Amino acid sequence: MSPLASARSDVGRVRTSNQDSGYAGQFFFVVADGMGGHAGGDVASGIAVRDLAILDRRFSSVAEARAALVAQLKAINEKLSHVVDSNPELAGLGTTVSGMVRVGDRFVVAHIGDSRIYRLSNGELSQVTADHTFVQQLIDAGRITEAEAKDHPRRSVLMRVLGDVDDDPSIDTTEVPAIPGERWLLCSDGLTGVLNDAEVRDLLAADAGPEAISARLVDRGLAGGGPDNITVIVVDVAGEDGEARSDFVGSAATKRKFPAVRSGETGSSPRPKTRTVPVSTSEFPLPTTSPKSRVGTEPERSGLSVRARRRLRAGIISLLVLVLLAAAVFGAYSWTQTRFYLGVSGSHVAVFQGIPATLGGLALSRVYLDSDVRVASLPAYEKSQVIQSVSFDNVSDAVDALNRMSGE
Ligand code: CA
Repeated sequence: MSPLASARSDVGRVRTSNQDSGYAGQFFFVVADGMGGHAGGDVASGIAVRDLAILDRRFSSVAEARAALVAQLKAINEKLSHVVDSNPELAGLGTTVSGMVRVGDRFVVAHIGDSRIYRLSNGELSQVTADHTFVQQLIDAGRITEAEAKDHPRRSVLMRVLGDVDDDPSIDTTEVPAIPGERWLLCSDGLTGVLNDAEVRDLLAADAGPEAISARLVDRGLAGGGPDNITVIVVDVAGEDGEARSDFVGSAATKRKFPAVRSGETGSSPRPKTRTVPVSTSEFPLPTTSPKSRVGTEPERSGLSVRARRRLRAGIISLLVLVLLAAAVFGAYSWTQTRFYLGVSGSHVAVFQGIPATLGGLALSRVYLDSDVRVASLPAYEKSQVIQSVSFDNVSDAVDALNRMSGE
């Protein structure tokens, strides 16, 4: 008898590492597509899939399964941020996650990013998940067509992912009947970037088991150039309990240990949160339209990381402080220039504008009016006034005092 599910992952023909991860179990199936420059992507998807595999169990209700999925995805999001705290070179890492749990005659689906879940029902293919991409928002807004999206220069830009990108990502959840005889596909964009929906449908609808179908899907992706990692999980819906299995593929299947979180960094939340509202879930097919600061570049995905945004915020605050300081200094300087005093210029008495002081080597006063009154000729009291630079509120008081000294 052919197995009821099959998971496969291939690095593709262009990339040097596989940043995808996948899992096919008895009740739980998931695909994750990592992003991040320096070895971050495979870490992110690997951690996500390994941590999600604990959900491969029998849930007593759809509500329980949905809550567990969202809670675990939220925990993984936090864990990925902590991993970056301990391993700064991984800044910006993130991953998509598209997974589903079988609960009796239902599938509970949770999704974030642009990996996809398809359902083949009576020969009809439907996409169960909505891509959280920039181009999908343009399509939804009627600004570009599906065909134009395929070649759009920013087609890889993700609006939502788990990772060091968003402190509080929004996760889509939905539930769909699990009808025996139907076939499901979970896949990363390495497949759908090469094959269109009609090609995916034809391959899925073929009269063959999941093992053969998953192999054909990957082969077709490679034949189409294999520009990206390709991960597929084909699931045939049968009786309530699937077959006992526990298959990891991609980065999650490697022996490598993923970077650890420094002790004391889990459980608590040492990093400030940019938002405090709980993770919100929404039903399909309603992709978020709220603007996110996540941006990416071709061809590697990337995001403006939490770290980067924190640095940006710190930079803006520093700038504001500098501006305020500059304003304060300018205000103080302006005030000094409303003051006058009698002082010594050379060997003569002069009226100075400002105050008898310097700031950072800069004199805060200048000679306003010279006189021919020699300091040496002044009586002791007046000489002391000049030497002590007695201050006046306005220039006429200072000039009056000078005239008194010169006997005018
Ligand atoms: Ca990909």
